[in-house]
Amino acid sequence: MTRGSSTARAAGIVTLVVAGLLGSAYVLGRSLVPDQTPRQSTGVTTNADGPHYADQPGVGEPGGAPSASASAAGTGPAEAGQDGSGRDAGGDNLFGAHATTGTPRLALTFDDGPDPRYTPQVLALLREYDVRATFCVVGENAQNHPDLVQSIVDAGHTLCNHSWHHDVGLGARSADAIRSDLLRTNAAIRAAVPNAPIVWYRQPGGAWTYPVVSVARQLGMTPLHWSVDPSDWELPGATKITATVLSQAEPGSVVLLHDAGGDRQGTVEALRRILPDLTARFELEALPTDPT
Ligand SMILES: [Zn+2]
Repeated sequence: MTRGSSTARAAGIVTLVVAGLLGSAYVLGRSLVPDQTPRQSTGVTTNADGPHYADQPGVGEPGGAPSASASAAGTGPAEAGQDGSGRDAGGDNLFGAHATTGTPRLALTFDDGPDPRYTPQVLALLREYDVRATFCVVGENAQNHPDLVQSIVDAGHTLCNHSWHHDVGLGARSADAIRSDLLRTNAAIRAAVPNAPIVWYRQPGGAWTYPVVSVARQLGMTPLHWSVDPSDWELPGATKITATVLSQAEPGSVVLLHDAGGDRQGTVEALRRILPDLTARFELEALPTDPT
């Protein structure tokens, strides 16, 4: 792709526009979506398209988790219903979660699956470009689609626990509740792939808290955040997803994408455009199963 100041300016403008749209969409979503029904309080609705991990009370809000990122307003992704905020992944609200690979290699991560419509498409594209990645799977989806978990592992990709029910507020629960959620998720994954290592945990929404980080570590999982977030779950379209990833990717990046949780055809199309460029510029890796 062409690089230069005009591209940089365009990327900056796009970023500003996207940030504005995200803010508007968030306010609109909050005003349209009541939080009081039990179904919505889980942040998940289910229809013919499968589970959608939708808006949920953010941290510090009524009904939400307390203050996971109150000290880092503007950088905390917890107000996002799914994963990611489109903002800086740095800051002090990560509680030590890894936001980069720690090496020159770049890692693609796919959250919220597996999903029978999109996960096979993602796997096919990764195979075409001989790329290994990391899949942050949701326990209930692993339970429902063990064949897809097997396909992920058979292709050499690595796994990450993404909680049982994509509970953005999990970090506010008791340590025992967090522990049983993470163990239940690992059990569903291991029912599909008994010997596959599960050494990463990604908190839904990036809503990290000290308890959730502590429990994950106690269970042998390293907390995993990200450094590049195109907010693909907000359906910005393949062109914007592609532009964000290609303009922000750098050595060590952990890129956040979603292969489930809604209409992900835009992400699949973006991946098709992203892979030729990324594989030319970086060495891509599945996050290792022996993190330190
Ligand atoms: Zn997620």
